[in-house]
Amino acid sequence: MMPLCGAQTRTEDKHPCQRIAGKSGKCHLHGGHSTGPRTPEGRERQRQSVTTHGQYSKQSLMERRIFRQQMKLYKDELATLAF
Ligand SMILES: [Zn+2]
Repeated sequence: MMPLCGAQTRTEDKHPCQRIAGKSGKCHLHGGHSTGPRTPEGRERQRQSVTTHGQYSKQSLMERRIFRQQMKLYKDELATLAF
């Protein structure tokens, strides 16, 4: 049997809410909203759904940063060579 919410309702008789409770023990009308994805697959699915192009992701920023540092090193190295 599914647990019921049981929150006090605003009806005249103030009967307990009869809706099925979520993980937090209350229904979504009484403070029991979703607690979010928990499994690695669920988190990844959520991440994918909110990522537009990933151009500013930590990984992407770090890749460009390292590339720029390398290019600067090459440029400086090239400048020391006499032609
Ligand atoms: Zn409820």
